[in-house]
Amino acid sequence: KLFSIPDAIPDKASWETAAEADYSVAKVVLNLPLLTEFHYIVPDALREWIGPGHRVKVPFGRGNRFANGYCVGILPAKELEGKFRKLKSIAEVLDKEPLISSRMLELTKWISEYYLSGWGQVLEGVIPAGVKNNSGTREILYLHPAENLQEKLGSLKLPPKQKVVLDVLTASDSPLRIDELTKLAKCGTGPVNGLREKGFIEAIRQRADVTAPEMKDFAKEEDLELNSSQSEVLKHILSSIGSGKHQTILLHGVTGSGKTEVYIQAIREVVSYGRQAIVLVPEISLTPQTIRRFRSRFDSVAVLHSHLSDAERHWHWQQIAKGKIQVIVGARSAVFAPTPHLGLIVIDEEHETSFKQSTTPRYHTREVARKRCDIEGIPLLLGTATPTLESWNRAITKKDLLLSLPSRVSDLPLPPVVIVDTRNDPQCSKGASIGRILETGIRTALADKGQVILFLNLRGFAPALWCRACSASIKCPDCDISLTWHKDRKIALCHSCEYQSSSLKECPNCHQPGLQFLGVGTQRLEQEVRAKFRGVKCLRMDSDTMRKPGSHDIALESFRRGEARILLGTQMIAKGLDFPNVTVVGVISADTILNQPDIRAAERTYQLISQVAGRTGRSERGGRVFVQTSSPDEYPILCAAEHDYLRFAKQELVHRQNALTPPYTHLARVIIRGEIEEIVKQRSKEMAKAFLEAQENSEHSEKVRILGPAPAPITKLKKNYRYHFQMSARDVSLIHQLWKESSKDFLKMNDVEIVIDVDPVDLR
Ligand code: ADP
Ligand code: ZN
Repeated sequence: KLFSIPDAIPDKASWETAAEADYSVAKVVLNLPLLTEFHYIVPDALREWIGPGHRVKVPFGRGNRFANGYCVGILPAKELEGKFRKLKSIAEVLDKEPLISSRMLELTKWISEYYLSGWGQVLEGVIPAGVKNNSGTREILYLHPAENLQEKLGSLKLPPKQKVVLDVLTASDSPLRIDELTKLAKCGTGPVNGLREKGFIEAIRQRADVTAPEMKDFAKEEDLELNSSQSEVLKHILSSIGSGKHQTILLHGVTGSGKTEVYIQAIREVVSYGRQAIVLVPEISLTPQTIRRFRSRFDSVAVLHSHLSDAERHWHWQQIAKGKIQVIVGARSAVFAPTPHLGLIVIDEEHETSFKQSTTPRYHTREVARKRCDIEGIPLLLGTATPTLESWNRAITKKDLLLSLPSRVSDLPLPPVVIVDTRNDPQCSKGASIGRILETGIRTALADKGQVILFLNLRGFAPALWCRACSASIKCPDCDISLTWHKDRKIALCHSCEYQSSSLKECPNCHQPGLQFLGVGTQRLEQEVRAKFRGVKCLRMDSDTMRKPGSHDIALESFRRGEARILLGTQMIAKGLDFPNVTVVGVISADTILNQPDIRAAERTYQLISQVAGRTGRSERGGRVFVQTSSPDEYPILCAAEHDYLRFAKQELVHRQNALTPPYTHLARVIIRGEIEEIVKQRSKEMAKAFLEAQENSEHSEKVRILGPAPAPITKLKKNYRYHFQMSARDVSLIHQLWKESSKDFLKMNDVEIVIDVDPVDLR
C-alpha cells in the first residue's frame, strides 16, 4: 500500500460538482469478465501519483466494498457530460510507477477485445504476481545527513565517534545503509543511533533487491558461417527488420535445416543497434541445450521458464524493463516481456499447441506476438517444419512472407519412413505393441551399436480399465475419463484431476473381481521392451519418471553417453533432441491422435510423425523410422512418410475449405459448465437459442453459424458437467459482435459457469 489519501471531495459527487472543480476522471478496469470500463474521480491529492498502467483500489459494489483494478486512462471530468450522475473516487493508488507501458496497454486491450475477456482480467493474467507483490525486494533504510546540518550543529562538539560517522556520511555521494556506514566509520551502531536521535542524521526507505539470481557465465562462441540457403533467408529477414514496418515471416524449414542459427543471426542484427529480441519456444523445449545455445552467443540472456520463483520473475522483469537484457527466451508468457525497444519476436515451433493459453485470457501467443509486432512496427518470425494450416494459408496467400530451408544443413537426407500396418502383424494381433517389422528394425539397430527411440503418447501402464463381467469401463467418479492403471504405484489414476484409487480389486459397478487392463501406456511398453530385449538398457521418460527438477537432463545425458540403448517415452522425447547415434525411431501407434474427434487430428498426426522422424538420421550413420498404424492409407501418414508437407497442406486445405473450418473460418467455442447436468443442459439450450435468434435478426450479409449445443466430448470434468456450442464465421468480428450482444444475461447466471474460447485449439 503506497498512497492512501483521504477523499478530497465527497464520495458520489455529481458530475456537475466534479466538472466545476475541474477534476480528472480515471478509467478503471477490474478483474472481472466484463468488457466495461468504469469511471472514478481522481482526488486532487492523488493526481500526480496516478496514470495509465497504475493499479488502483476503488469502491465497487454495494456497501463498503472495494476492488483492485488498473487505471487505463485519465480524462477531464468535463468530457463525461451527462453520462454519469454519481461518481465515486479512487481510494488508493497501489504502485509508485506504472506497471506497464502504454503500448502494453494497447496490446492487452486488443487481447481483451479479440478473446472476449475483461481488460482487467487480461492485465491480471499478464503481469506476474511477483511484479505486483514486489517479490524479492525489501524496504531498506538509507541514511543521509540532515538538511541544514551546519545550522543544527551550531558550535556543538560531538563525541569523537559520532563525529567520524557524520564525516563519513557527509563525504559520501549517496545515502548509505547502516551496515555500510558502521563499516566505513569503523564503529558500532551506537554512535549512528545517537546521531539519529539528535536529528543530525535522517533516514529514507527505498526498495532494493534482496537477492539477485545467480547468473552462470557461459563460454562464448562465434556465430557459424551460414550456408547459401540460410544466407538467402537471412537477407530477407534483415531487409524486413530494416524496413521499420511490421511483417510476419514464416520460415518453413525441415528439422536440422539451421533455423535456429538464422534466428540467432537475425537477433544479432537487432541487438547491434541496441534493441531487444524475444524468442518464444514451447515450455518443453526450454532445455539446457536451447538455453546454452543462446547464452553462448549473447551477453545478456534472460530465460523465463515456469520454475522461476516470484522473486526471480520480478527481478527479470525489472532487468528487462531497464533495457539490460538483449535476448529473452521463454515460453508463452514471455511475449509480454517489458522490453523498452523491441526489435524482433521469434516463435520457434510455431505449430505447438502449448502456445495457446488454456485459461482466461485464452490468447494464442502467435496472434498476440503478431499484434505486438504490429504495434511496434517490427517483424515477427515464425519457424517450424510443420506450419499450422492457419500460418501456412496466410503465407501462400501472400499475407505473410514465406521463406524456406528445404534441406538439412548437413546435406544428410531425411530418414526413410516405413509405414507398418498393424492389422496384419502377427505380434500385434496377439496384443504386443511392438510388431514384427519394428522389432526386426530395433534388433538390427542394436546389433549395429545404434540407439533406438520409441514414442507413445500415453503414460501409465494401461490407459483403460474394463470389467469382464458387466463390460463397464471404469471411469473417474468426477470426470468422464477412463482411469489409467499405474502398475508401479498400484493405483488407478485420472489424468485430468489426479483422482486415484488404490482399492480397485473389483468392479465398482457390479462388484465382480477381475478387472482387465486395456491398451498400452509407456509403463507397459517398457515392460514389453525389457522382456523382448533382455540385457539392453532401456530408459523411460514421461511425466511419471521425470518428476524431480533436473531429472530430464540427467536422463538425456545418460542416453547421450550411450548408457541406455533404448529411450521410450511420451511427447517429451518427440522434440528437439539431437542424438547422432539414434538409427531407429518407432512410433508405437499413429492412430491415437488420428482417431481423435478433432478438426486438427490430421494436422497433428502429420506433425507428430515428422517431429519424431526428425530425431534420427542426424549423422552419417543414417536412420530409419517405423510408424505403426491401422490406417496406413490415410494421407497425413502417407505424406509424412514422404516428408511432403506441401502435398499434405494442399490436401488438408481442401478438406478444411469443404468443412468450413479454420483457416477458412474462425471458430469460437462456448462452454457451459456446472454441477447439475439438467441445468447445464437447459442453459446451453437457452443460450444457443438466444445466439441463433440474434443472428437471424442481424443485418449482416454473413451469418454466424451456430453448431450445437451438445455435450462436450469430455462431458464431465472435475465434478462439472460440460456442454458446448460453437460459433463459426469468416469474419471474426461478427463473432465478437454476437457475443457482446447476446452473452450478457447468461454471464450473470450463477447456476452455471460460462467460458468463451475464441480460435480454440482444444475442442474436448
Ligand atoms: P533447426 O533449428 O532447423 O532444427 P539448427 O539451427 O538446430 O536447425 O541446426 C542443426 C544443426 O546444424 C546444429 O547442430 C547446428 O549447429 C548446425 N548448423 C546450423 N547452421 C550451420 C552452418 N551454417 N554451418 C554449420 N553447421 C550449422
Ligand atoms: Zn478425474
